[in-house]
Amino acid sequence: MVTAQRREETGPDPYFLRGLLHCGERRLVPVYSTKSIRYYACTNLRCRRLLVLAEEIEQLVWTRYVQLNAGAADGVCRDARRDALMRVVRRISIGASLNDLDFTWRD
Ligand SMILES: [Zn+2]
Repeated sequence: MVTAQRREETGPDPYFLRGLLHCGERRLVPVYSTKSIRYYACTNLRCRRLLVLAEEIEQLVWTRYVQLNAGAADGVCRDARRDALMRVVRRISIGASLNDLDFTWRD
């Protein structure tokens, strides 16, 4: 069971990929499980990949970002990752596997 996660106005957003992740044409939205595990959920309820572990995809995306933006990612703390990504990334599409990430960059 998962519930939509409301944006807490206190403290940084733990979902630093909020709004960036896509599965096909669907946007992935942040959810919490009842055990407070963070996920991103596909809004297509028939999707084979309904839930994506937030920690896992965030790590994969950040690792890729660092590989592609050597230097720019130096010294970026976790709370600043969203700003760093939003400056250069328009959207991120997840392909057949979580490792199959397709970045759409801003001009
Ligand atoms: Zn999907």
